[in-house]
Amino acid sequence: MKGYLLGQNRDVPNSRDFSPNTDELVDKNAQFVSQFADAGLALAPKRHLAIVACMDSRMDIFQMLGLAHGDAHIIRNAGGVVTDDVIRSLVVSQRLLNTQEIILIHHTNCGLQTISEDGFKKQIEDECGIKPGWAIEAFTDPFDAVRQSMNRLHHSPFVIFKDHIRGFVYDVETGKLNEVDPDPRHAT
Ligand SMILES: [Zn+2]
Repeated sequence: MKGYLLGQNRDVPNSRDFSPNTDELVDKNAQFVSQFADAGLALAPKRHLAIVACMDSRMDIFQMLGLAHGDAHIIRNAGGVVTDDVIRSLVVSQRLLNTQEIILIHHTNCGLQTISEDGFKKQIEDECGIKPGWAIEAFTDPFDAVRQSMNRLHHSPFVIFKDHIRGFVYDVETGKLNEVDPDPRHAT
């Protein structure tokens, strides 16, 4: 019998070769604390800006945009997709902390381009015995994916500031942000 519910039948890839980083990182935090210069920053982002981005490890959002700590909210998930939980964060960001501008940042060579929605879900179901109730949000074209997320923002009744929404695809090989035209009829 498969150990579905406990996940005991799962063979986690490369788990034997892995050693955790946390202890080393906690040590590095001690150095960080000794040079800490951000005390006293305001809770609300200074630029009234929220950024929704993919979790990709190659993107440092503050660095790529020349932002300083305290300037903007950064909301990240796999793909930088506008999900219900991203809407939740944006509602807090806009209503509670006064942001009025949203920038979406997806990127080239995203992990979500390497899988199919149905195939990945089936794989999870085969391994876990349970089909996820959530969408994987796999996509093929990052520009289309940004347009999809922009549309979701524009159609959400919970997002109150919609006049300043722009979307970009970050090129992981050059560092360049390419702006997405919200109208797909303009796309080449
Ligand atoms: Zn990504």
